[in-house]
Amino acid sequence: MPGVRLEKVSKRFGEVRTLRDIDLEIADGSFTVLVGPSGCGKTTTLRLVAGLETVSSGRILIGERDVTALEPRERNVAMVFQNYALYPHMTVYDNIAFGLRAKRMDEAEIRRRILDVAAMLGLGDLLARRPGELSGGQQQRVAIGRAIVREPNLFLFDEPLSNLDAKLRIGMRTELLKLHRELGTTTIYVTHDQEEAMTMGDRIVVMEAGEIRQTGTPREIYFRPADLMVARFVGSPPMNIFEGRLEGGAFEGAGLRLPLPGIGSFAGRVLLGVRPEDIHLAGTLEPERASAPFSARVEVIELLGARAIVTFALEGAEIKAVVEERQLDTLREDTDASLVLDHHRLHLFDAESGERV
Ligand code: ATP
Repeated sequence: MPGVRLEKVSKRFGEVRTLRDIDLEIADGSFTVLVGPSGCGKTTTLRLVAGLETVSSGRILIGERDVTALEPRERNVAMVFQNYALYPHMTVYDNIAFGLRAKRMDEAEIRRRILDVAAMLGLGDLLARRPGELSGGQQQRVAIGRAIVREPNLFLFDEPLSNLDAKLRIGMRTELLKLHRELGTTTIYVTHDQEEAMTMGDRIVVMEAGEIRQTGTPREIYFRPADLMVARFVGSPPMNIFEGRLEGGAFEGAGLRLPLPGIGSFAGRVLLGVRPEDIHLAGTLEPERASAPFSARVEVIELLGARAIVTFALEGAEIKAVVEERQLDTLREDTDASLVLDHHRLHLFDAESGERV
C-alpha cells in the first residue's frame, strides 16, 4: 500500500489562507489521525488528498505518483464522511455496488466483493434493506463497506463516527482498527476529538490555524507535547498550567517555590505544565519522583468511579488532580491537603513562544 506525501501544500479560499505550507509524510499502511480544533484545516487537507479541492501551491504524492493535478477518480482513494451520504432509494446491496457498477465491473465480481465485505462488517442480513430502515451505526457500516469494496489505495475518513451515540462510537472505533489491521490500507482519519485521536492513531498530526503543530505517536504527543497548544489540546481533564519564573534551578510562581533537579541553566519566564494524574497526595508517590510538598485547599471532589477529579485552590490558581478512590478518605472539602508533583512528568514552556523548553 502506498504512503502519502504533502510537500509545501497551501490552500487559499479567496483571501482566506486555510493551509500554510503543510509538509507531511504518511507511512505505507499507517493509520494517521489529523486532529485539531474546529476550522484548523483538517477537512481541507483530506479533500486536497482526495482531489475534491485543488491546491493553491505545493505537491501531493500518493506512493511515487504525483497526483496534484489528477481528478479524484484517477487517484484510487475512497472517502467516508460524517453524514453517510447513502442513496435513500437504493438497497444496501445497490448502494455498495454503485461505485463498482459505475466502473462497469462484472456483476459476478461485484457480488463476490459485496458478500466478502458484508461478512466482514456484519451486514449480511441487511443487504435488501434501504438506508431509512437502518440504525445510524448500520448506515455508517454501509458507507464504510462502499469504500472497502472499491479496494482503494487509501482510505480517507472525515469524522465518520460523530453522528453516533457515545457507546456505539467506542464500539466502532475498535471495529475500524480491526478492519485496518485486516486490510492494511493506508488510512487518514480526521477528528476534532482528542480521545479518538489518541486511541485510534498510530500517528497523530495536531493542527491549528492551518499549520501542523506536532506530528508523533500518541505517546510522544501526550508525554512530550511540542508546545502549549498541543499540551492543552490533548488530555482530559486538561493539563494544569502555572505561570512563573525559572531561576537557580527552581520554579517560582502560583505561590510555590519548587526546586527542579535536572532542569539545567534555563532562566526566565515560563509556564509549568502538570497533568492531573501527575499531582499526588504527599506520601503516595515514590520519594525519588516527588517534588517538595506544598499545601492546597480542597474545593470540589468529583467521583468518577475508581478515580476522582479533585479541584484544589492554590494562591490565585486552581488545579485539578486525578486521585485514586481509595486515597480519598484523607481529603475533606474546605480543608488543606499536602501535594507533590511528579518530577519525571513536568512540562516547561517558554512564556513568550509557548515552545517546549
Ligand atoms: P471542522 O472540524 O469544523 O470541520 P476543519 O479543521 O475540518 O474544521 P476546514 O473545514 O478544513 O476545517 O476549514 C478550514 C478553514 O477554511 C475554515 O476557516 C473554513 O471556514 C475555511 N473554508 C473551508 N472550505 C471553504 C470554502 N469552500 N470556501 C471558503 N472558506 C472555506
